[in-house]
Amino acid sequence: MSLASPTSKLSDVIVVGLGGVGSAACYWLAKHGYSVVGVDQFDPPHRMGSSHGDTRIIRKSYFEHPSYVPLLIRAYELWRDLESRIGKQIYFPTGLLEIGPADGIVLSGVTRSAREHSLAIELMSIDQACLQYPGIRGSGDWQVVLEKDAGYLLVEQCVAAHLEQSRQLGAQIRTCQRMIRWQADSQGVLVETEREILRAKKLILCAGPWASQVLAQYSIPLQVLRKHLYWYPCKSGSYSKERGFPCFFYDTPTGYYYGFPDHSGQGLKVARHSGGQWLEGIPDGQHFPDDQDRKLVEAFLQSYLPEVELQLKRWSGCYYTMTPDEHFIVDRLPDQANVVVVAGLSGHGFKFTSVLGQIAGELAIESHSALDIDFFRFHRFGESGSIGSGNHVC
Ligand SMILES: Cc1cc2nc3c(=O)[nH]c(=O)nc-3n(C[C@H](O)[C@H](O)[C@H](O)COP(=O)(O)OP(=O)(O)OC[C@H]3O[C@@H](n4cnc5c(N)ncnc54)[C@H](O)[C@@H]3O)c2cc1C
Repeated sequence: MSLASPTSKLSDVIVVGLGGVGSAACYWLAKHGYSVVGVDQFDPPHRMGSSHGDTRIIRKSYFEHPSYVPLLIRAYELWRDLESRIGKQIYFPTGLLEIGPADGIVLSGVTRSAREHSLAIELMSIDQACLQYPGIRGSGDWQVVLEKDAGYLLVEQCVAAHLEQSRQLGAQIRTCQRMIRWQADSQGVLVETEREILRAKKLILCAGPWASQVLAQYSIPLQVLRKHLYWYPCKSGSYSKERGFPCFFYDTPTGYYYGFPDHSGQGLKVARHSGGQWLEGIPDGQHFPDDQDRKLVEAFLQSYLPEVELQLKRWSGCYYTMTPDEHFIVDRLPDQANVVVVAGLSGHGFKFTSVLGQIAGELAIESHSALDIDFFRFHRFGESGSIGSGNHVC
Protein backbone atom coordinates (compact mmCIF):
# COMPACT_ATOMS: atom_id res chain seq x y z
CA MET A 1 0.00 0.00 0.00
CA SER A 2 1.32 3.40 -0.86
CA LEU A 3 -0.34 5.67 1.70
CA ALA A 4 2.01 7.03 4.38
CA SER A 5 2.41 5.09 7.65
CA PRO A 6 -0.84 4.55 9.51
CA THR A 7 -1.18 6.45 12.78
CA SER A 8 -3.52 3.95 14.38
CA LYS A 9 -3.51 0.25 15.17
CA LEU A 10 -5.33 -2.27 13.01
CA SER A 11 -9.08 -2.47 13.66
CA ASP A 12 -11.60 -4.94 12.31
CA VAL A 13 -13.68 -2.37 10.43
CA ILE A 14 -13.63 1.34 9.54
CA VAL A 15 -17.06 2.86 8.86
CA VAL A 16 -17.05 6.06 6.81
CA GLY A 17 -20.20 8.16 7.18
CA LEU A 18 -21.99 8.12 10.54
CA GLY A 19 -25.48 9.16 9.49
CA GLY A 20 -28.44 6.78 9.45
CA VAL A 21 -26.61 3.73 8.09
CA GLY A 22 -23.11 4.28 9.48
CA SER A 23 -24.23 4.90 13.06
CA ALA A 24 -26.20 1.63 12.94
CA ALA A 25 -23.27 -0.28 11.39
CA CYS A 26 -20.94 0.93 14.18
CA TYR A 27 -23.50 -0.19 16.74
CA TRP A 28 -23.97 -3.66 15.22
CA LEU A 29 -20.20 -4.23 14.96
CA ALA A 30 -19.45 -2.98 18.48
CA LYS A 31 -22.35 -5.00 19.91
CA HIS A 32 -20.92 -8.14 18.33
CA GLY A 33 -17.47 -7.54 19.80
CA TYR A 34 -15.63 -6.20 16.74
CA SER A 35 -13.20 -3.29 16.93
CA VAL A 36 -14.65 -0.45 14.88
CA VAL A 37 -13.60 3.09 14.03
CA GLY A 38 -16.33 5.38 12.69
CA VAL A 39 -15.43 8.55 10.78
CA ASP A 40 -17.61 11.50 9.78
CA GLN A 41 -16.82 14.85 8.19
CA PHE A 42 -19.39 16.53 10.50
CA ASP A 43 -20.70 15.84 14.00
CA PRO A 44 -23.79 13.60 13.57
CA PRO A 45 -26.66 13.94 13.96
CA HIS A 46 -26.31 17.06 11.81
CA ARG A 47 -28.44 18.94 9.27
CA MET A 48 -26.12 18.72 6.25
CA GLY A 49 -27.04 15.31 4.81
CA SER A 50 -30.16 13.14 4.75
CA SER A 51 -30.91 12.24 8.38
CA HIS A 52 -32.54 15.26 10.01
CA GLY A 53 -35.92 17.01 10.27
CA ASP A 54 -37.38 15.38 13.42
CA THR A 55 -39.21 12.35 11.99
CA ARG A 56 -39.18 9.57 9.36
CA ILE A 57 -42.08 7.31 8.40
CA ILE A 58 -41.70 3.59 9.04
CA ARG A 59 -44.08 1.14 7.34
CA LYS A 60 -44.04 -2.53 6.45
CA SER A 61 -46.49 -3.19 3.55
CA TYR A 62 -43.93 -1.78 1.18
CA PHE A 63 -45.38 -0.46 -2.09
CA GLU A 64 -41.90 -0.06 -3.60
CA HIS A 65 -41.39 -3.87 -3.74
CA PRO A 66 -42.20 -6.94 -1.60
CA SER A 67 -38.45 -7.78 -1.44
CA TYR A 68 -38.07 -5.07 1.21
CA VAL A 69 -40.53 -6.68 3.64
CA PRO A 70 -38.19 -9.23 5.33
CA LEU A 71 -35.71 -6.40 5.93
CA LEU A 72 -38.48 -4.28 7.43
CA ILE A 73 -39.59 -7.04 9.78
CA ARG A 74 -36.00 -7.22 11.06
CA ALA A 75 -35.70 -3.39 11.13
CA TYR A 76 -38.74 -3.15 13.43
CA GLU A 77 -37.14 -5.71 15.80
CA LEU A 78 -33.88 -3.79 15.86
CA TRP A 79 -35.57 -0.43 16.55
CA ARG A 80 -37.42 -2.07 19.45
CA ASP A 81 -34.11 -3.51 20.74
CA LEU A 82 -32.50 -0.09 20.56
CA GLU A 83 -35.42 1.46 22.45
CA SER A 84 -35.13 -1.08 25.25
CA ARG A 85 -31.37 -0.55 25.42
CA ILE A 86 -31.65 3.25 25.77
CA GLY A 87 -34.89 3.19 27.80
CA LYS A 88 -36.53 5.79 25.55
CA GLN A 89 -39.23 5.74 22.87
CA ILE A 90 -37.93 6.49 19.35
CA TYR A 91 -40.64 4.66 17.33
CA PHE A 92 -44.22 5.98 17.53
CA PRO A 93 -46.84 3.59 16.06
CA THR A 94 -49.36 6.23 15.00
CA GLY A 95 -50.60 4.17 12.04
CA LEU A 96 -50.39 5.28 8.40
CA LEU A 97 -53.14 6.09 5.90
CA GLU A 98 -52.22 5.43 2.28
CA ILE A 99 -54.70 7.17 0.01
CA GLY A 100 -55.17 7.15 -3.76
CA PRO A 101 -56.46 5.23 -6.78
CA ALA A 102 -56.80 1.50 -6.07
CA ASP A 103 -54.83 0.68 -9.21
CA GLY A 104 -52.13 3.32 -8.58
CA ILE A 105 -48.51 2.41 -7.75
CA VAL A 106 -48.96 3.04 -4.03
CA LEU A 107 -52.18 1.17 -3.21
CA SER A 108 -51.57 -1.72 -5.58
CA GLY A 109 -48.00 -2.05 -4.23
CA VAL A 110 -49.14 -1.94 -0.60
CA THR A 111 -51.78 -4.62 -1.13
CA ARG A 112 -49.31 -6.80 -3.08
CA SER A 113 -46.71 -6.69 -0.27
CA ALA A 114 -49.40 -7.32 2.35
CA ARG A 115 -50.73 -10.30 0.39
CA GLU A 116 -47.31 -11.85 -0.30
CA HIS A 117 -46.13 -11.48 3.28
CA SER A 118 -49.44 -11.92 5.15
CA LEU A 119 -49.27 -8.45 6.69
CA ALA A 120 -52.24 -6.88 8.46
CA ILE A 121 -53.76 -3.91 6.62
CA GLU A 122 -57.28 -2.43 6.65
CA LEU A 123 -58.91 -1.43 3.37
CA MET A 124 -61.64 1.21 3.32
CA SER A 125 -63.39 3.60 0.95
CA ILE A 126 -62.49 7.28 1.03
CA ASP A 127 -65.94 7.99 2.55
CA GLN A 128 -65.31 5.57 5.43
CA ALA A 129 -61.85 7.09 5.98
CA CYS A 130 -63.29 10.65 6.02
CA LEU A 131 -65.80 9.59 8.68
CA GLN A 132 -63.04 8.08 10.83
CA TYR A 133 -60.59 10.98 10.21
CA PRO A 134 -62.79 14.06 9.61
CA GLY A 135 -59.84 16.30 8.56
CA ILE A 136 -59.00 14.37 5.39
CA ARG A 137 -60.40 14.66 1.84
CA GLY A 138 -59.96 12.62 -1.31
CA SER A 139 -61.46 11.87 -4.68
CA GLY A 140 -64.69 9.81 -4.47
CA ASP A 141 -63.24 6.86 -6.37
CA TRP A 142 -60.07 6.59 -4.26
CA GLN A 143 -59.36 3.87 -1.74
CA VAL A 144 -57.59 4.00 1.58
CA VAL A 145 -55.31 1.53 3.34
CA LEU A 146 -54.67 1.80 7.06
CA GLU A 147 -51.46 0.16 8.26
CA LYS A 148 -51.76 0.20 12.04
CA ASP A 149 -48.20 -0.66 13.07
CA ALA A 150 -46.70 1.94 10.77
CA GLY A 151 -45.71 5.24 12.32
CA TYR A 152 -42.62 7.35 12.70
CA LEU A 153 -39.08 7.30 14.06
CA LEU A 154 -37.34 10.25 15.69
CA VAL A 155 -34.57 10.54 13.13
CA GLU A 156 -31.87 12.51 14.95
CA GLN A 157 -32.49 10.56 18.16
CA CYS A 158 -32.01 7.25 16.31
CA VAL A 159 -28.62 8.38 14.96
CA ALA A 160 -27.57 9.80 18.33
CA ALA A 161 -28.64 6.63 20.14
CA HIS A 162 -26.73 4.34 17.76
CA LEU A 163 -23.60 6.47 18.12
CA GLU A 164 -23.86 6.76 21.90
CA GLN A 165 -24.40 3.02 22.29
CA SER A 166 -21.48 2.32 19.92
CA ARG A 167 -19.21 4.50 22.05
CA GLN A 168 -20.35 2.74 25.21
CA LEU A 169 -19.54 -0.61 23.57
CA GLY A 170 -16.01 0.53 22.73
CA ALA A 171 -16.30 1.91 19.18
CA GLN A 172 -14.02 4.84 18.38
CA ILE A 173 -16.16 7.59 16.89
CA ARG A 174 -14.15 10.27 15.04
CA THR A 175 -16.23 13.30 14.08
CA CYS A 176 -15.40 16.48 12.17
CA GLN A 177 -12.75 14.80 10.05
CA ARG A 178 -13.36 14.11 6.42
CA MET A 179 -12.03 11.03 4.69
CA ILE A 180 -9.81 12.26 1.89
CA ARG A 181 -8.77 8.96 0.41
CA TRP A 182 -9.12 5.22 0.83
CA GLN A 183 -7.25 2.24 -0.50
CA ALA A 184 -7.93 -1.49 -0.35
CA ASP A 185 -6.27 -4.75 -1.32
CA SER A 186 -6.52 -8.35 -0.19
CA GLN A 187 -4.49 -7.50 2.95
CA GLY A 188 -6.86 -4.81 4.25
CA VAL A 189 -7.80 -1.16 3.92
CA LEU A 190 -6.23 2.22 4.60
CA VAL A 191 -8.28 5.36 5.17
CA GLU A 192 -6.71 8.81 5.17
CA THR A 193 -8.70 11.50 6.94
CA GLU A 194 -7.87 15.18 7.37
CA ARG A 195 -6.05 14.25 10.59
CA GLU A 196 -4.82 10.67 10.50
CA ILE A 197 -4.31 7.47 8.60
CA LEU A 198 -6.38 4.53 9.79
CA ARG A 199 -6.09 0.88 8.89
CA ALA A 200 -8.46 -2.02 9.21
CA LYS A 201 -9.32 -5.39 7.78
CA LYS A 202 -12.56 -4.11 6.24
CA LEU A 203 -14.18 -0.84 5.17
CA ILE A 204 -17.86 0.15 5.09
CA LEU A 205 -18.69 3.20 2.95
CA CYS A 206 -22.06 4.76 3.73
CA ALA A 207 -21.58 8.40 2.75
CA GLY A 208 -25.22 9.21 1.88
CA PRO A 209 -25.38 12.11 -0.59
CA TRP A 210 -21.57 12.08 -0.81
CA ALA A 211 -21.45 8.43 -1.99
CA SER A 212 -20.49 9.37 -5.56
CA GLN A 213 -17.60 11.40 -4.19
CA VAL A 214 -16.16 8.62 -2.02
CA LEU A 215 -16.68 6.13 -4.88
CA ALA A 216 -15.48 8.49 -7.60
CA GLN A 217 -13.63 5.82 -9.57
CA TYR A 218 -16.72 3.64 -9.87
CA SER A 219 -19.39 4.70 -12.30
CA ILE A 220 -22.15 4.09 -9.82
CA PRO A 221 -25.31 5.70 -11.17
CA LEU A 222 -26.28 8.01 -8.31
CA GLN A 223 -27.86 11.44 -8.49
CA VAL A 224 -28.72 13.76 -5.62
CA LEU A 225 -32.07 15.54 -5.31
CA ARG A 226 -32.68 18.58 -3.14
CA LYS A 227 -35.88 18.08 -1.13
CA HIS A 228 -38.01 20.15 1.25
CA LEU A 229 -39.93 19.65 4.51
CA TYR A 230 -42.63 22.01 5.84
CA TRP A 231 -44.43 22.46 9.16
CA TYR A 232 -47.84 24.23 9.29
CA PRO A 233 -50.18 25.13 12.16
CA CYS A 234 -53.63 23.52 12.28
CA LYS A 235 -57.01 25.30 12.60
CA SER A 236 -58.46 22.48 14.70
CA GLY A 237 -57.39 19.35 16.56
CA SER A 238 -58.27 17.14 13.55
CA TYR A 239 -54.62 16.37 12.79
CA SER A 240 -53.42 15.97 16.35
CA LYS A 241 -51.38 12.91 17.26
CA GLU A 242 -52.81 13.11 20.74
CA ARG A 243 -56.30 12.65 19.18
CA GLY A 244 -55.17 9.65 17.13
CA PHE A 245 -54.44 11.25 13.74
CA PRO A 246 -51.97 9.02 11.86
CA CYS A 247 -49.17 9.61 9.36
CA PHE A 248 -50.40 9.84 5.75
CA PHE A 249 -49.17 9.17 2.22
CA TYR A 250 -51.24 10.43 -0.74
CA ASP A 251 -50.97 9.34 -4.37
CA THR A 252 -52.45 12.36 -6.21
CA PRO A 253 -52.52 13.58 -9.83
CA THR A 254 -49.74 16.08 -8.94
CA GLY A 255 -47.50 13.51 -7.27
CA TYR A 256 -46.89 11.79 -3.94
CA TYR A 257 -47.24 13.77 -0.70
CA TYR A 258 -46.75 12.50 2.83
CA GLY A 259 -46.76 13.81 6.35
CA PHE A 260 -46.98 13.45 10.08
CA PRO A 261 -49.61 14.37 12.68
CA ASP A 262 -49.33 17.58 14.66
CA HIS A 263 -47.54 16.63 17.86
CA SER A 264 -47.94 18.91 20.92
CA GLY A 265 -48.78 21.91 18.71
CA GLN A 266 -45.53 21.71 16.71
CA GLY A 267 -47.53 21.72 13.49
CA LEU A 268 -48.40 19.21 10.79
CA LYS A 269 -45.23 18.20 8.94
CA VAL A 270 -45.69 17.64 5.20
CA ALA A 271 -43.49 17.07 2.14
CA ARG A 272 -43.64 16.20 -1.52
CA HIS A 273 -42.04 12.81 -2.20
CA SER A 274 -42.14 13.40 -5.97
CA GLY A 275 -40.08 16.10 -7.66
CA GLY A 276 -37.13 17.99 -6.21
CA GLN A 277 -34.15 19.67 -7.86
CA TRP A 278 -31.28 17.61 -9.26
CA LEU A 279 -27.98 18.74 -7.82
CA GLU A 280 -24.99 19.39 -10.01
CA GLY A 281 -21.66 18.80 -8.31
CA ILE A 282 -20.92 17.77 -4.76
CA PRO A 283 -23.52 18.51 -2.05
CA ASP A 284 -22.39 21.37 0.19
CA GLY A 285 -25.06 20.91 2.88
CA GLN A 286 -26.49 24.35 2.08
CA HIS A 287 -30.23 24.16 1.51
CA PHE A 288 -32.51 26.76 -0.11
CA PRO A 289 -36.32 26.97 -0.15
CA ASP A 290 -38.11 26.41 -3.46
CA ASP A 291 -41.25 28.47 -4.10
CA GLN A 292 -42.63 26.11 -6.73
CA ASP A 293 -42.35 23.11 -4.38
CA ARG A 294 -44.01 25.07 -1.58
CA LYS A 295 -46.88 26.13 -3.89
CA LEU A 296 -47.54 22.50 -4.83
CA VAL A 297 -47.47 21.44 -1.16
CA GLU A 298 -49.89 24.22 -0.18
CA ALA A 299 -52.24 23.34 -3.08
CA PHE A 300 -52.14 19.73 -1.87
CA LEU A 301 -53.00 20.84 1.69
CA GLN A 302 -55.89 23.03 0.48
CA SER A 303 -57.37 20.12 -1.47
CA TYR A 304 -56.82 17.22 0.91
CA LEU A 305 -56.09 18.53 4.45
CA PRO A 306 -58.10 21.77 4.58
CA GLU A 307 -57.88 22.20 8.37
CA VAL A 308 -54.23 23.20 7.96
CA GLU A 309 -53.49 26.93 8.16
CA LEU A 310 -51.26 27.96 5.26
CA GLN A 311 -48.87 30.02 7.38
CA LEU A 312 -45.52 28.27 7.22
CA LYS A 313 -44.10 27.69 10.72
CA ARG A 314 -40.84 26.00 9.76
CA TRP A 315 -38.96 24.71 6.70
CA SER A 316 -36.00 22.39 6.24
CA GLY A 317 -33.98 21.17 3.25
CA CYS A 318 -32.54 17.69 2.82
CA TYR A 319 -31.07 15.35 0.15
CA TYR A 320 -32.36 12.20 -1.54
CA THR A 321 -29.61 10.09 -3.17
CA MET A 322 -31.28 8.36 -6.10
CA THR A 323 -30.45 5.22 -8.08
CA PRO A 324 -32.03 4.84 -11.55
CA ASP A 325 -34.51 2.20 -10.29
CA GLU A 326 -34.96 3.91 -6.87
CA HIS A 327 -33.86 0.74 -5.06
CA PHE A 328 -30.94 0.67 -2.62
CA ILE A 329 -27.36 -0.40 -3.30
CA VAL A 330 -26.15 -2.84 -0.63
CA ASP A 331 -23.16 -4.92 -1.68
CA ARG A 332 -19.43 -5.51 -1.56
CA LEU A 333 -17.46 -3.76 -4.30
CA PRO A 334 -17.11 -6.16 -7.25
CA ASP A 335 -13.31 -5.73 -7.38
CA GLN A 336 -12.65 -5.07 -3.65
CA ALA A 337 -14.23 -7.73 -1.48
CA ASN A 338 -13.03 -5.90 1.66
CA VAL A 339 -15.18 -2.88 0.91
CA VAL A 340 -18.92 -2.78 1.59
CA VAL A 341 -21.12 -0.07 0.10
CA VAL A 342 -24.56 1.03 1.28
CA ALA A 343 -25.75 3.89 -0.92
CA GLY A 344 -28.58 5.26 -3.05
CA LEU A 345 -31.31 4.92 -0.46
CA SER A 346 -33.44 6.95 -2.88
CA GLY A 347 -35.43 8.93 -0.31
CA HIS A 348 -36.95 5.97 1.53
CA GLY A 349 -34.08 4.45 3.48
CA PHE A 350 -34.15 5.73 7.04
CA LYS A 351 -36.63 3.18 8.39
CA PHE A 352 -34.18 0.47 7.22
CA THR A 353 -31.02 1.91 8.75
CA SER A 354 -31.14 -0.36 11.82
CA VAL A 355 -31.15 -3.47 9.60
CA LEU A 356 -28.78 -1.97 7.02
CA GLY A 357 -26.29 -1.58 9.88
CA GLN A 358 -26.61 -5.29 10.58
CA ILE A 359 -26.30 -6.23 6.88
CA ALA A 360 -23.28 -3.97 6.32
CA GLY A 361 -21.61 -5.46 9.40
CA GLU A 362 -22.34 -9.03 8.27
CA LEU A 363 -21.07 -8.35 4.74
CA ALA A 364 -17.87 -6.88 6.15
CA ILE A 365 -17.21 -9.63 8.70
CA GLU A 366 -18.73 -12.73 7.13
CA SER A 367 -18.90 -11.75 3.42
CA HIS A 368 -22.60 -12.55 3.32
CA SER A 369 -25.75 -11.54 5.18
CA ALA A 370 -28.38 -13.64 6.93
CA LEU A 371 -30.94 -11.52 5.04
CA ASP A 372 -31.60 -11.83 1.31
CA ILE A 373 -30.09 -8.78 -0.38
CA ASP A 374 -29.80 -10.04 -3.94
CA PHE A 375 -32.31 -7.41 -5.04
CA PHE A 376 -29.94 -4.63 -3.91
CA ARG A 377 -26.69 -5.75 -5.52
CA PHE A 378 -24.51 -3.95 -8.09
CA HIS A 379 -25.03 -6.58 -10.78
CA ARG A 380 -28.39 -5.06 -11.73
CA PHE A 381 -26.49 -2.10 -13.25
CA GLY A 382 -24.54 -4.43 -15.55
CA GLU A 383 -20.86 -3.59 -15.97
CA SER A 384 -21.23 0.05 -14.93
CA GLY A 385 -20.90 -0.64 -11.23
CA SER A 386 -17.89 -2.88 -11.51
CA ILE A 387 -15.12 -0.76 -13.00
CA GLY A 388 -12.22 0.98 -11.32
CA SER A 389 -9.81 0.12 -8.54
CA GLY A 390 -6.70 1.45 -6.81
CA ASN A 391 -6.37 4.73 -4.99
CA HIS A 392 -9.67 6.45 -4.25
CA VAL A 393 -9.43 10.18 -3.73
CA CYS A 394 -12.61 11.87 -2.49
C1 LIG B 1 -36.81 15.23 3.26
C2 LIG B 1 -36.56 13.77 3.46
C3 LIG B 1 -37.58 12.97 3.93
C4 LIG B 1 -37.39 11.58 4.09
N1 LIG B 1 -38.39 10.82 4.58
C5 LIG B 1 -38.17 9.50 4.84
C6 LIG B 1 -39.15 8.73 5.50
O1 LIG B 1 -40.22 9.24 5.88
N2 LIG B 1 -38.87 7.43 5.74
C7 LIG B 1 -37.69 6.85 5.37
O2 LIG B 1 -37.50 5.66 5.62
N3 LIG B 1 -36.74 7.58 4.74
C8 LIG B 1 -36.94 8.86 4.47
N4 LIG B 1 -35.98 9.64 3.89
C9 LIG B 1 -34.73 9.01 3.43
C10 LIG B 1 -33.76 8.78 4.55
O3 LIG B 1 -33.77 9.86 5.45
C11 LIG B 1 -32.37 8.55 3.97
O4 LIG B 1 -32.46 7.48 3.02
C12 LIG B 1 -31.37 8.18 5.04
O5 LIG B 1 -31.41 9.11 6.09
C13 LIG B 1 -29.97 8.16 4.41
O6 LIG B 1 -29.03 7.77 5.39
P1 LIG B 1 -27.49 7.67 4.98
O7 LIG B 1 -26.78 7.08 6.13
O8 LIG B 1 -27.37 7.02 3.64
O9 LIG B 1 -27.03 9.18 4.74
P2 LIG B 1 -26.67 10.34 5.85
O10 LIG B 1 -27.50 10.14 7.06
O11 LIG B 1 -26.71 11.62 5.13
O12 LIG B 1 -25.20 9.97 6.26
C14 LIG B 1 -24.07 10.09 5.41
C15 LIG B 1 -22.91 10.56 6.28
O13 LIG B 1 -21.69 10.39 5.56
C16 LIG B 1 -20.83 11.44 5.94
N5 LIG B 1 -19.76 11.56 4.95
C17 LIG B 1 -19.93 11.70 3.61
N6 LIG B 1 -18.73 11.78 2.99
C18 LIG B 1 -17.79 11.70 3.95
C19 LIG B 1 -16.34 11.73 3.94
N7 LIG B 1 -15.62 11.88 2.79
N8 LIG B 1 -15.68 11.63 5.11
C20 LIG B 1 -16.39 11.48 6.29
N9 LIG B 1 -17.75 11.47 6.35
C21 LIG B 1 -18.43 11.56 5.20
C22 LIG B 1 -21.77 12.63 6.02
O14 LIG B 1 -21.23 13.70 6.76
C23 LIG B 1 -23.00 12.01 6.65
O15 LIG B 1 -23.01 12.16 8.06
C24 LIG B 1 -36.14 11.01 3.73
C25 LIG B 1 -35.11 11.83 3.26
C26 LIG B 1 -35.31 13.19 3.15
C27 LIG B 1 -34.18 14.04 2.62
